[in-house]
Amino acid sequence: MMKGTSASAGIGIGKAVIVEEAQLVIEHRAVADASAEKDRFQKALEKAKEETEALARDLATRVGEKEAEILNGHLMLLGDPMLTGEIENVIAAESVCSEMAIENVCNMYADMFASMGDELMQQRATDMRDIKTRMQKILLGVKSVDIAALPAGTVIVAKDLTPSMTAGINPKNVTGIVTELGGKTSHSAILARALEIPAVVAVENFLSKVQDGDDIVLDGSEGIVIVNPSQEEKEEYQAKREAYLKEKKELEQYIGKPTITKDGVQVELVANIGKPEDVDKVLQYDGEGVGLFRTEFLFMDRTAMPTEEEQFEAYQKVAIAMNGKPVIIRTLDIGGDKEIPYMGLEKDENPFLGYRAVRFCLDRKDDVYKPQLRALLRASAFGNIKIMVPLVTCVEEYRQVKALIEEIKEELDSKKIAYNKDIQVGIMVETAAASLMADAFAKEVDFFSIGTNDLTQYTMSVDRGNDKVSYLYSPLNPAVLRSIRNIIQCGRKENIMVGMCGEAASDPMMIPLLLAFGLNEFSMSASAILNARKLITGYSVAELQEVADKAMSFVTTEEVENYMKEFISK
Ligand code: PEP
Ligand code: MG
Repeated sequence: MMKGTSASAGIGIGKAVIVEEAQLVIEHRAVADASAEKDRFQKALEKAKEETEALARDLATRVGEKEAEILNGHLMLLGDPMLTGEIENVIAAESVCSEMAIENVCNMYADMFASMGDELMQQRATDMRDIKTRMQKILLGVKSVDIAALPAGTVIVAKDLTPSMTAGINPKNVTGIVTELGGKTSHSAILARALEIPAVVAVENFLSKVQDGDDIVLDGSEGIVIVNPSQEEKEEYQAKREAYLKEKKELEQYIGKPTITKDGVQVELVANIGKPEDVDKVLQYDGEGVGLFRTEFLFMDRTAMPTEEEQFEAYQKVAIAMNGKPVIIRTLDIGGDKEIPYMGLEKDENPFLGYRAVRFCLDRKDDVYKPQLRALLRASAFGNIKIMVPLVTCVEEYRQVKALIEEIKEELDSKKIAYNKDIQVGIMVETAAASLMADAFAKEVDFFSIGTNDLTQYTMSVDRGNDKVSYLYSPLNPAVLRSIRNIIQCGRKENIMVGMCGEAASDPMMIPLLLAFGLNEFSMSASAILNARKLITGYSVAELQEVADKAMSFVTTEEVENYMKEFISK
């Protein structure tokens, strides 16, 4: 039995499939027989074409024709005699291996396309790099697992999963996820919860203890993994799985009930989503709206930016599905642990302190931010959309975004395009600076949503994905609690809505404290909503004041945790 961090509740039972992002090492290797090397290249080229054709067929049926178009573009490049001729020329002229010839020729074209600047050419550059890697993988014999096409009953095992890898998972076939790295609030963990796949992360040296095809059972709620369990253990976990599912079923009695405390304080219980399709789950679990739409997921798992039109359709779809209920859409929050290869972002030394989110967007107004804001404004004509700005650290940033929104509103007015003129614009409060300035922000913005995942990281100076320092990472740390309480008080003083969309909003130890502080809105993965409603409806805010006062009197996380654990177990 091995212990890791519980990242997504539930019991997984299945067979291990090890998923690794292959690192290709391309070396300059001299070849004596250039004509034999050319044959080797031709064989790889044919194989690359076959693979791409198969992928395109699969994508067209599983996802859509539009997505498959990209691969048809790849096929055209692979079939371009100019490109392949040039690679053969380099092999012959420089007596160099195919991998290196491909590297040089494809990079040369990709750089050339990329330097032309426009969107179409950027796409070409990405395509060129994609086909380069495909051919090189074939030549080097590197196999990569297609994460979208895993067999039923798979437990994914990986060093770490990138958010885009996780987004490609088909939850029907994946019964569990185990990783060596990551933390509870890393984005792959958040996605696992959204997909309701049991997951355990941060299992030390796990890859050295498991092989492809091994039997695995995992308890995502307890953070436990067993490789090749005994028959007894298997039966035990089978029973645990049934109990878990039964408990989940019992929560259904809270569907359709208001989220109101025993002493009549009503709060909003809303959902975090990453893709328009996620609203199905929001409706299924009776979410009262969307408190956070992480739009960066629309930008992931593809090779070019979604156009304004595509974004408009996605936002409109959510607004319509939620039928007048609030839908808070966060503008692009990339950087940090969310990389998007085609955006041309360089690797930051300190990604979480670097060029990300609103900082990046304000630097890329024309090609990135304006199209997104325009899509959001246009979609606001179809429902109750609110715009939320991530990672704000200073008032100036918010003012710049507001100015940009005003500029786009004028443009839409002049073109007689409909939008909600009173659209609310709020901020995520998730940096230490924004928390300290919450009183000032509260006078300018329409609402707050506290992002505890980042707020904890920035308050405690601890990387949210780093297991080695995760003992410091807790929203129940007194410093973080003081910060949260201050943000809520400042917002309430100016009568703006204060919500929370970080993972703490669904934490049973946090909920009583947040109610006592006066939080108005709780946003969480859809699957957590009914349990939160059960908890909230069981409390009286007046009675919780004493609990909050006591909790706030402690100076260590441990004391707060022990106290809250004891309180909720009563
Ligand atoms: C947060 O930081 O709490 C948050 C909700 O945003 P994300 O997890 O996407 O950074
Ligand atoms: Mg955040």
